[in-house]
Amino acid sequence: MARHGGRGWYGRVLAAAVGVTAVAAATSVWTAQAGPAGGSQAGAQARPSAAGSAPAKVSVDIAHASEGGAHAVNITIDDGPDPEWTPKVLDVLRENGVKATFCMVGTQAKAHPDLVKAVVAAGHRLCDHTVSHDTSMDKKPESYQSQQILDAERMITEASGGVRPQYYRAPGGAFTPYSRTLAASRGMRPLGWNVDTKDFERPGTAAIVATVKSEVAGGPTILFHDAGGERSQTVAALGEILPWLRQQGYTFGFPVR
Ligand SMILES: [Zn+2]
Repeated sequence: MARHGGRGWYGRVLAAAVGVTAVAAATSVWTAQAGPAGGSQAGAQARPSAAGSAPAKVSVDIAHASEGGAHAVNITIDDGPDPEWTPKVLDVLRENGVKATFCMVGTQAKAHPDLVKAVVAAGHRLCDHTVSHDTSMDKKPESYQSQQILDAERMITEASGGVRPQYYRAPGGAFTPYSRTLAASRGMRPLGWNVDTKDFERPGTAAIVATVKSEVAGGPTILFHDAGGERSQTVAALGEILPWLRQQGYTFGFPVR
């Protein structure tokens, strides 16, 4: 899977600090998006506002930073929901008091609306991960990209009972300028990652844990998977790495929007 390295959160903080225009733009986006609970609160979700109103636009830039600041990490969980593994991931997150961002595949969300609702009820956030997880969608027509993103947005929102996805993550990182602009226009911030645990390759729990320990200093957004195969290693790794991260002084947040 393609990485989105090179733009760690230090870089973004620095860019904001030196650019008055960037600061002003970021402030206006934040103001437009901040919810009544302050945005970083665990249960804050993008609920539909007045009937027929469009969601507020967000930045088209691929996000890596955390709303929680420089000492927060973003736990992101991709490709579900899955009836066997998503409940186990929810258990380990709850046991550790961690809120995460779930990048859901539209067909999976439609098939398991109870799990989508459970994710929302536990205070996690939703992310649009397209209808069919086509990692070469960046090579395909805009009409196809649009269908993949907007149909998944609808499927996830219907499954959740009206809670919208707040992010868009292209499968395998196959973003295009068009897809980022489209997602942002729907209030879904393009979402990258810094640490690819490669848990989908089942390298062993110890290897997944070691990857996080060695790479987390390079950026706060960490990628795991709760579907697409047997995920006992992922569940076990989360059970080890979440307490370790806390011991290291990290907190847990959501990606910036
Ligand atoms: Zn994926």
